[in-house]
Amino acid sequence: MKDTWPLLDKIPFPAIRRGTLQTLQVNVGYRCNQSCVHCHVNAGPNRTEEMDTKTVDVVLDFLEKRRIATLDITGGAPELNANFRRMILAARDIGVKVMDRHNLTVQEQPGQEDLPEFLAANQVEVVASMPCYLQDNVDKQRGKGVYDGSIRGLKRLNALGYGHEDSGLTLNLVYNPLGPLLPPPQAELEADYKRSLGERFGIVFNNLFTLANMPIQRFGAILLSQGEFDSYLERLLHAHSDENLDGVMCRSLLSVNYRGYVYDCDFNQMLDLPLTRGDRERVHLSELLDDEIADNPIRVAGHCFGCTAGQGSSCGGALKEAAE
Ligand code: SF4
Ligand code: SF4
Repeated sequence: MKDTWPLLDKIPFPAIRRGTLQTLQVNVGYRCNQSCVHCHVNAGPNRTEEMDTKTVDVVLDFLEKRRIATLDITGGAPELNANFRRMILAARDIGVKVMDRHNLTVQEQPGQEDLPEFLAANQVEVVASMPCYLQDNVDKQRGKGVYDGSIRGLKRLNALGYGHEDSGLTLNLVYNPLGPLLPPPQAELEADYKRSLGERFGIVFNNLFTLANMPIQRFGAILLSQGEFDSYLERLLHAHSDENLDGVMCRSLLSVNYRGYVYDCDFNQMLDLPLTRGDRERVHLSELLDDEIADNPIRVAGHCFGCTAGQGSSCGGALKEAAE
């Protein structure tokens, strides 16, 4: 697979620094029941890397000692990690809010039959990928049959109260474009999703987040092989807005890989750009139990324009709307 990093490394991006840490985003491994074409972690059914019990214990220690507000669990399909449920139960026990980056079809994997009930019982916020409300587009990006499986998954979550006002169970969807395009305005697209999924399937959800595809890993390699890397980067650069720099997720989030090493964000993790701290080559989460990283410089390069382009997208969706 062709690597876009040598090209991204040459593109300057404005200097930014970390703010107060609010969210610990933990990647518990790369195993996934899907292999989507845009996947920035190259996840798939044959990946074997996963966070072990000892590292999960460090995560739980960190959450408690540093009084972190939110644990954001991602993968792969994070539910396939043997420690997934233990981590959630322990985090909820100490009052931490938990988010699950959920692909919906994992609910139909063996052993996951009671997953929706488990998530609901622990008030886990579900953030589910749904790159379109139309079948053809979803199956093209995420694989044949994924659309139908996703609809079934959404219905199961709705039946438990997810996505309904005042249920206390939040169901957010994530949209990313199919090709090398910027996402359309978030509010308009959210209205389209709500209308289409509501009318056809009776599905409800809270918010739609629109995210640009990052020019790295599998999607980056496709851009290179189709000769579209330069034009996509040009598009991101052209749509950059300095106003979005304050809201990028790396200012308030710390990303942890399956071995416990830390990064400014998930994208830097995939590019293997560890958090910089003094002259250390990489930093383990266990070394930060008593170390305050606010004001630490963030490692930026050309891929960061994927976060500040257009309306700007953070892990919470369009930055301008999020601030309103
Ligand atoms: S479901 Fe998510 S983690 Fe799995 S392959 Fe698709 S994008 Fe990657
Ligand atoms: S890719 Fe986005 S979140 Fe990551 S360091 Fe760059 S601006 Fe921050």
